[in-house]
Amino acid sequence: MHDIDKAAIAAEVRRFQYEIWQRAGTSHHTIPHLLQLFRPDHAASVHSIEYEVAAGSLGVHGVGRAQYQVAGLVDVQRSTIRIAGNLPYEVQRFTGAHELGHVVLHPGLPLHRDRPLLGDSPVPDRREREANYFAACFLAPEKLLRKAFEERFRCTTLHLDDRVAFAIAGNGAQDLLRSKTGSLEFPRAVATAQKFGIGNHFKSLAEEFGMSPTAMAIRIRELELVSY
Ligand SMILES: [Zn+2]
Repeated sequence: MHDIDKAAIAAEVRRFQYEIWQRAGTSHHTIPHLLQLFRPDHAASVHSIEYEVAAGSLGVHGVGRAQYQVAGLVDVQRSTIRIAGNLPYEVQRFTGAHELGHVVLHPGLPLHRDRPLLGDSPVPDRREREANYFAACFLAPEKLLRKAFEERFRCTTLHLDDRVAFAIAGNGAQDLLRSKTGSLEFPRAVATAQKFGIGNHFKSLAEEFGMSPTAMAIRIRELELVSY
């Protein structure tokens, strides 16, 4: 499995978003404002990509066990994206951002269908890994995520110990402390945490950035916002 060039993809996303931000008159600075600008549908319209959310399902593709519900469809040559409207909001957003990634990164790609992204199971196809990484950078830009993280947890990296486990999980602290190094358990707890200690309540990172707990957990682990 060849590794993808993450730095190059992150740079593409920054360019792609910079143009959207510039076009908006550069008056957007707060995290919620910027995240509004960086909605996949809005990003598509700024970049002259047709983006349609279907009223319902986009049907089923494949045969037998390999059958799956289509989450998104992209025609790179025509710059058109269709998203299944019957899947959860976060899945639609991730799929939309993934399809934008194909348009930006894979000019020669033939008509392409995507299944809903499930967990962090290994993805054999290089272009799929690239589009997934594009989506993660697009939905949770590094600078914004670090800022939102620090606002909530008052540090740049959370190290899993008794104090942190209790501040995040309360009575579930022991389970969290037993989670395996490198697993998604701790990053997922951080992604969905709505409090840190006493009296400090907030919108979870997953909710703020409109991502599933798993997708946000992967991004948190990627940026090494947690150590354990
Ligand atoms: Zn794809």
